Amino acid sequence: PLIARLDLLLLGTVGLGAVAWYARNKFFGSPSESDTSSANSDSNNTTSPSKPAPNKPERNFVKIMQQQGRRCIMFYGSQTGTAEDYASRLAKECTQKYGISAMAADVELYDLSYMDTLPEDYVVFFIMATYGEGEPTDNAVDFWDLLTNETPQFSTMNNEEKPLEKVHYVVFGLGNKTYEHYNSVGRTVDKHMQQLGAQRIGERGEGDDDASLEEDFLAWQETMWPAFCKALGVDENSASSGPRQATFGVEELTDFDEALVYHGEIAERAKNARSKIVYDAKRPYNAPITTRELFQDGGDRHCLHVDIDISGTNLNYLTGDHIAVWPTNNEVEVDRLASLLGLSKKLESVVVVKAVDPAASKQHPFPTPTTYQAIFRHYIDICGVPSRQALMSLVEYAPTEDSKAILLKLASDKDEYRLAVSDAVRNLGEVLEYVLGDTDANGSFASVPFDLVVESVSRLQPRYYSISSSAKESPSLVAATAVTLEYNPVATPERTVYGVNTNYLWQIHSKVHQVDDGRSYPLYNLDGPRGALLTTDGSHVNIPVHVRRSTFKLPRNGNVPVIMVGPGTGVAPFRGFVRERALLKKEGKPVGPTILFFGCRHSQKDFLYADEWPELFDTLGEGSQMITAFSRETDQKVYVQHRLQEQGQLMWELLQQGGYIYVCGDAKLMAKDVQHTFTSFAQTYGGKNEEDANVFIKQLRTSGRYQEDVW
Ligand code: FAD
Repeated sequence: PLIARLDLLLLGTVGLGAVAWYARNKFFGSPSESDTSSANSDSNNTTSPSKPAPNKPERNFVKIMQQQGRRCIMFYGSQTGTAEDYASRLAKECTQKYGISAMAADVELYDLSYMDTLPEDYVVFFIMATYGEGEPTDNAVDFWDLLTNETPQFSTMNNEEKPLEKVHYVVFGLGNKTYEHYNSVGRTVDKHMQQLGAQRIGERGEGDDDASLEEDFLAWQETMWPAFCKALGVDENSASSGPRQATFGVEELTDFDEALVYHGEIAERAKNARSKIVYDAKRPYNAPITTRELFQDGGDRHCLHVDIDISGTNLNYLTGDHIAVWPTNNEVEVDRLASLLGLSKKLESVVVVKAVDPAASKQHPFPTPTTYQAIFRHYIDICGVPSRQALMSLVEYAPTEDSKAILLKLASDKDEYRLAVSDAVRNLGEVLEYVLGDTDANGSFASVPFDLVVESVSRLQPRYYSISSSAKESPSLVAATAVTLEYNPVATPERTVYGVNTNYLWQIHSKVHQVDDGRSYPLYNLDGPRGALLTTDGSHVNIPVHVRRSTFKLPRNGNVPVIMVGPGTGVAPFRGFVRERALLKKEGKPVGPTILFFGCRHSQKDFLYADEWPELFDTLGEGSQMITAFSRETDQKVYVQHRLQEQGQLMWELLQQGGYIYVCGDAKLMAKDVQHTFTSFAQTYGGKNEEDANVFIKQLRTSGRYQEDVW
């Protein structure tokens, strides 16, 4: 499902939260010591962690709630914005419908150890995404640490046994059932809150991104709000659904300083122009890149190898980390939505977008002043599938009775929505066109207030790629391996949907290398803000990136055997791993058996890095090998899982020698099959019964000897 760009897209990443946690604790001390450093979300802050900035933001959220007269706070642990969206939606509903002033808050920005001072008639909400192998999102690491500590330290500790006895809370977790640790963060937060004496209002909510996160979220609210009203003594029946109150204010400027307008820059300008810029997830670096095509398989897929130059910046990486690429939306979708909203002629108009209640949500959803064009191109996810709630908010603006009725049906009928919107993978513009039928689309939704568009459409999120280079071999040149995404949704096979980022990269490649494969793709404006990304004379080709740590790491001791399973682009991190081990070997260091299982369709078409492997495995020498499966070369499709099955005895021996297993690529089928195969080895060769075999694999995972980097 494509409901917004989800936190859960990232579920496949491995142990990242743990790394962030480790890094933070190692470098910045314990959470109480780290108040100043982790509180400040301004990535340009170069203040040393030990020296708090003079105007450091207040971290005591209870104090802030009291100052602002709020009784509810919706904390979110969010990686890509979905949990944040949900928290904002809940805060808005709470304030508007139930008359209880609420605010959404990034859990990273506040010190949750003040929870024990919350007045009894206040409520704290936790909207928590699960990440990687059951870990909290980066911004929730301090909170997680506080809560799961054996002896959690709250501000007063008046009640050592049940420090949170007076606290009322609500919890909703975002997870994905494909993964083993489904919703473990929401569950763990709930468990610890209860152990600490806090009282939950309503049932714990859980959303499954693999099925229908948005529907789960809506269904959960049906019972949560009545329980909430009961707990707070609010008359549910008097809840008003009165006129819409805007979250953002939008003002078109006629008088402005062009130099201050943002044309798609992801981060705001550094406040202190002289301070050294620190690039990170909030301030991506426009990195110079070079691209080359790894294959064009004669079908609709292209695969690109992208070399990203991070030299001269604070960015660095470790083999196995991820690189995040910030995409641009294509012009077809920019024009489609602009036209529907009657903004085609105003794309370059300059607007300021800011929160009506800056204390209740982010002050600016993106850097402003900016233009409608930059908002559509760079800031909001106009290619994502809109939620039912978003569609509902647009019903009143539909131009005709017919279109109103259709839009209402889509917004209120789950099955209709699934068929025509989510399974059909229609974005907002396409849904609006669909409801209009033959009616002229141009300007037909011009009455929609623009702030509603900003509120209903999530922010455009970066896409992650497993780094396919070795940091030891090329520390400042990060490689990514990306295959273009293009498909025809099952529900509407006549339509083609193009992956946002991979087609953006493909457009860059085809422009720079003047490639024409005879097919037509949606066009992109590749120049970037103020021409920062690409120049026609080729003097620079940049993309905005940042590096993300992962725990997907080779064993410290090179002598330990490693088994890697990576079909398709799942081979990306293993290119880095194999190159790194070959380098160690060249340096005369001992390197254990290195086994790579790779699979693709055809040995002659989509065999990634086919020209590199022979030399690398020659260097690695005896005991190391690459085992391939080409699914379309035999009558019966052969996948990596089958090849792995054939090597049971060897795999078991390597595991007995302390070998590590790495799996990368498809989370849904392949990673599960691979795990079953290894479980079956423990039964066949290790003489274990099924239960013990499962325990064995679990232990491998816990000890870091079974790692996954799946998506
Ligand atoms: P988007 O516009 O984001 O579209 C993707 C969406 O399309 C998905 O949500 C999916 O649900 C949906 N979709 C796909 N096919 C269909 C279909 N047939 N029917 C309906 N919906 C469909 N990719 C690589 O190529 N190489 C890597 O090394 C790599 N590493 C990754 C590592 C991590 C940790 C993660 C989280 C992802 C990784 N990915 C990798 C995937 C990558 O991040 C992007 O998701 C991918 O490139 C597609 O991005 P896009 O913007 O082109 O597609």
